[in-house]
Amino acid sequence: MIPEASESCRLLINIVSEVVLNCLFRGETDMPISGKMQKIIETSSSVTRMFEEGARLRARYGPDRVYDFTLGNPAVPPPPEFGEVLRNLVKEDSIPHGYTPTAGLLPVRRAVAEYLSREQGMEIPAENVVMTSGAVGALNGIFTALMDPGEEILVPAPYFVAYTLYVMNMGAVLRSVPTGGNFHLDPGAMEAAITGKTRAVLVNSPNNPSGAVYSREELEQLGEVLDRASKRYGRRIYLISDEPYRRLAFDSEVPSVLESYPHTILISSYSKQLSLAGERIGYLAVHPEAEDAEQLVKAAGVMNAVLYVNAPSLFQRVVAALQGAVVDVEAYRRRRDLVCEVLERAGYTFTVPQGGFFIFPESPIPDDITFCRSLMEERILVCPGTDFGTPGHFRLSFAVPEKTILEAEEGFRRAREEIE
Ligand code: PLP
Repeated sequence: MIPEASESCRLLINIVSEVVLNCLFRGETDMPISGKMQKIIETSSSVTRMFEEGARLRARYGPDRVYDFTLGNPAVPPPPEFGEVLRNLVKEDSIPHGYTPTAGLLPVRRAVAEYLSREQGMEIPAENVVMTSGAVGALNGIFTALMDPGEEILVPAPYFVAYTLYVMNMGAVLRSVPTGGNFHLDPGAMEAAITGKTRAVLVNSPNNPSGAVYSREELEQLGEVLDRASKRYGRRIYLISDEPYRRLAFDSEVPSVLESYPHTILISSYSKQLSLAGERIGYLAVHPEAEDAEQLVKAAGVMNAVLYVNAPSLFQRVVAALQGAVVDVEAYRRRRDLVCEVLERAGYTFTVPQGGFFIFPESPIPDDITFCRSLMEERILVCPGTDFGTPGHFRLSFAVPEKTILEAEEGFRRAREEIE
């Protein structure tokens, strides 16, 4: 386990380690992996290069002199009540460690449903909530439950790099749809992209990597588009809303996607809102009026059984007792403001993130991969926008110490001045 690796790097390291182990175990020189897996590895290759370069720079200059902004790991501790809840739970002699029902423990699903009902302004029954292994578990479960090979899922660009890998893994097709100004939804572009093969649209707000928070109006327009298209093609197009950064919004509340379109599956986790990324705990909730809601919930539970049986039992209990708790959001706001000040002084153009902990500035040259290499010469590590379906940009995570942001300023300026 490499604790400081970004989400995409971690994923890749797992894949690569498995391939290496397979080779050693079998003593073969040819690749013992499927064609599908080879494609997944190829798709992640720029992330591998970035990770290898980062390791090389750290070995050469020391970790303190490398400014690594690729990290997707939370930068702040869990809220204080977390320690107390965990300690009280483990003090109980009789705490069970067996399998739980695949959809999760009923009291836990109830606690999540009660909180969600208040947050979303509608009654969400506990039966519509399925506890998962992080948002990743929920995404993979619902993708598999909804899509046959060859079917399409549409996603506004830029988007979380790992979506491509999940969709590829199940033989479905991820299609990128352009966004409008400041990376907000373009309902017209979405409508034009829908075909008879479209099964779902996937949105993520606050967005990784852009930090955009989609407004109520744009979500309502999206809902109307999906309703029209479902009628036109005679099949229900579902909306999947991936919201692990919902509680990390800086300037306004994040509007409810469920209110904008009933055929929605909401996905979230405690990775970022409670800084529990390594504990792998999250959930999905199906809108009570979604077409075939009961079947979707059942399929998601079965997918848990196929993928990993159940969400971690201890952490189901922990999060049930922490509904409503959240990390120190101000600490992220300070970093957001600081990264904006530093990038502005260094001469970059960017949209101020409204939530989450990423910023997505324009690359000073159209070739973002070349520009990311120039930043590397300044010992600054960032991810190219190409990985997020949006070339000409790059992504920085500001889930790093404030010192790292400040000390990187000169390098950012030099890299821009030298390449322009
Ligand atoms: N969705 C997005 C947009 C993310 O950025 C991440 C993690 O960085 C995930 C899902 C995965 O979250 P989890 O750790 O809850 O599986």
